[in-house]
Amino acid sequence: MKSIKDVNFKGRKVLLRVDFNVPLDENKEITDDTRIRESLPTINKLLNDGAAVILLAHFGRPKKGGFEYEYSLCHIVQYLSECLGRPVKFTQRLLGEDSTVEDLARDLKPGEVFLMDNIRFYPGETKGDEALAERLARLGDCYVNDAFGACHREHVSTATLAKFFPNDKFFGHLMEHEVTNLKKLMLNAEHPFTAIIGGSKISSKIGILENLLDKVDNMIIIGGMRYTFTKAQGGNIGKSICEDDKMDMALDLLKKMDEKGVKYYLPVDSVVGDRFDNSARTKIVPAGQVPDGWESMDIGPESIKEIREIIMESKTILWNGPAGVFELPKFAKGTNVIAASAVLACKLGAYAAVGGGDSVAAVTQLGLADQMDYVSTGGGAMLEYLEGKTLPGIAAIED
Ligand code: ADP
Ligand code: MG
Repeated sequence: MKSIKDVNFKGRKVLLRVDFNVPLDENKEITDDTRIRESLPTINKLLNDGAAVILLAHFGRPKKGGFEYEYSLCHIVQYLSECLGRPVKFTQRLLGEDSTVEDLARDLKPGEVFLMDNIRFYPGETKGDEALAERLARLGDCYVNDAFGACHREHVSTATLAKFFPNDKFFGHLMEHEVTNLKKLMLNAEHPFTAIIGGSKISSKIGILENLLDKVDNMIIIGGMRYTFTKAQGGNIGKSICEDDKMDMALDLLKKMDEKGVKYYLPVDSVVGDRFDNSARTKIVPAGQVPDGWESMDIGPESIKEIREIIMESKTILWNGPAGVFELPKFAKGTNVIAASAVLACKLGAYAAVGGGDSVAAVTQLGLADQMDYVSTGGGAMLEYLEGKTLPGIAAIED
């Protein structure tokens, strides 16, 4: 692994791709600084080595091509300076307008930081444009990618740029952590290996389910998507969410798991509600017997018990997708118990990983994120890796 860990960057001028795509409120204040905080170890390592650091980042989805105030990284400069304890040089000027960017990059001293404005202001960025990559490459003498959340995109700053530094391209700390753990899961998992896959839609998870068939011993299927399986099997699902056009897909998957000897588990009972609301009336029913007018919102107590047992017997646990509508506290129990069980299994020596925007939010909300081996910071990127796809941002460094 080409990691920054093993290199001293003293005197180097580093082009560092980070993920600063943080949410802002209407006053342009940062409402969640997680991504900025997570990039600090890599920035600080380079600065402490004595490198000059040029930061590349995207911010939202600008549409016009060229500068747009709403999508400018000017909104995070001050906060970033505070985090780093030093001024951050910044300009809203873009490459090609005049020489401001080149001048700032050239004059940057060891220990100094320069943040370029939103890399997506350049129309070539999302097209992997080689001319833009070459122009950026001239600003520095090596390339580090630490933007795991963007590495499933074949963009200039996440992939193309690496070509210009065949011997000087590295993973930042965050990327290294993600890639090491993903490889462990997909290539070196200890058995029994249990995947717990949930969420709302089978269509968004089928790629992962298929790719995991050859890797796992147990597959636990939870969340709203299990009702597509239940309906396909002839059960009554009431108003529960279901993708009617994916019922064949569901049956086909169950058949494949039988053929491959994967033990699959579909929850046996459900907590149903008469409304999609935290004040709904609720009752517990067998999974395939949801009454008309009711809708499944969480897994039931018997399922919770059985899933906990499977988790506790596993050496590797991979979880993506909540068990129920965890955003409503009344229906968060299944999700919460799975999180707590994975943490307990970890304490007893298993390896547990969680990925996916909502699943990670659930674990974070419970304050359990630091008690698992691996909580992925990249929703879409991690899921694509689990689907068996090659991520351009990883491949570009490893090639
Ligand atoms: P992740 O972001 O972790 O990959 P998903 O986006 O696939 O997870 O799924 C999360 C969503 O699934 C949540 O908003 C949750 O409310 C919803 N969900 C889970 N169980 C159910 C259910 N039984 N009915 C409706 N929605 C559900
Ligand atoms: Mg989600």
